Amino acid sequence: MSRAPDPRSKLASGDSIFTVMTRLTAEHGAINLSQGFPDFDCDPALVDAVAARMREGHNQYVAMAGVPELREALAAKIRHLYGRRYDPETEITVTSGATEALFSTILALVHSGDEVIVFEPVYDSYVPAIQLAGGTPVFVPLGARDYRIDWDDVRRAIGPKTRLLVLNSPHNPSGTILDWQDLQQLRQVLAGTDAYAVSDEVYEHIVFDGARHESLARDPDVSSRAVVISSFGKTYSTTGWKVGYAAAPAALTAEIRRVHQWVTYAVNGAVQLAYADVVRRDPECREVAAFYERKRNLFLGLLAGSKLVPLPCRGTFFQLMDYSRVTSEPDHAFAERLIAECGVAAIPLSPFLYTAEAGTTIRFCFAKRDETLEAAAGRLRRL
Ligand code: PMP
Ligand code: GLN
Repeated sequence: MSRAPDPRSKLASGDSIFTVMTRLTAEHGAINLSQGFPDFDCDPALVDAVAARMREGHNQYVAMAGVPELREALAAKIRHLYGRRYDPETEITVTSGATEALFSTILALVHSGDEVIVFEPVYDSYVPAIQLAGGTPVFVPLGARDYRIDWDDVRRAIGPKTRLLVLNSPHNPSGTILDWQDLQQLRQVLAGTDAYAVSDEVYEHIVFDGARHESLARDPDVSSRAVVISSFGKTYSTTGWKVGYAAAPAALTAEIRRVHQWVTYAVNGAVQLAYADVVRRDPECREVAAFYERKRNLFLGLLAGSKLVPLPCRGTFFQLMDYSRVTSEPDHAFAERLIAECGVAAIPLSPFLYTAEAGTTIRFCFAKRDETLEAAAGRLRRL
């Protein structure tokens, strides 16, 4: 038998940090504050609505771009919340989670040799997508403690080869948010370039302390050259259903759909129809922010006085903690020891970093039942 051919990996990266930490968590039976998903169930009415749609016979392929009911509901929602009018027919595409929206967008827009600006720490799916597209990621570090964008750094990084800037607000893992000044800076930076912005806004409804989510859809100049991406998974506690969407001007949407049709073709129709109803009924989703703000405050209160020092968290369901009062060991080693010895799983930041140096910071997910947070905090207080 001849030797099997070498599959010749296209990506240097192995398993994602979420796969690695999920495996370790299971091995040690640890309390799981690592991967970002709720440990409580979604609204049972949503499950009933999906089941009802399935019983009605919505079990075959639906339109490639998404069911019209959902695209129309999303167009109305975005217009109501952010003021931008997207044509549901030509400007909104329903995808298999935000992950696919990001992937299809990056694959559609990045040509071989193009540069793509990303901010470190960077959510883990962006760079592999850029590399598979033949592009080169250009890393701009966020501020060391405040994780804010230094727009002068962006101006220095941008050049004739820059095709995209990938933004993420509220930001995973830091929990920072873009404010109105950032949006204005982005507008100035984009003017006079041929670059587009891709905006990952999956935590758009999880913004705290009275702050407002500054969607790129709010600014007419920015949104005329932006792809705004979101997901239903975080808002409705249905991360496993993997439905998201991309909203973009028609010319960009046409390119995204060209790729989307070969990646997934279409997304689960019964789930889309159920989401269409809830989006229509409550486009603002206000209670989601209040729900997670209370969870954040509970978690912070439970850890007050411990050796873990919280960093400011203005959105998402993640809390960064500085552990330098516990140890100076590297974040990956500390996260592994935390699982094995303390029985709590968190996410180190180093997998989100390429050029910037990892500090003594790890990420905890607080999208968990109060009992889970209390049990985890009880263990963490003993550090
Ligand atoms: N972007 C960010 C910043 C995320 O945190 C996540 C994951 N939770 C995603 C994209 C992927 O979203 P989805 O599960 O809808 O693919
Ligand atoms: N977005 C989730 C997180 O940050 C992980 C999703 C995934 O595992 N791909 O924890």
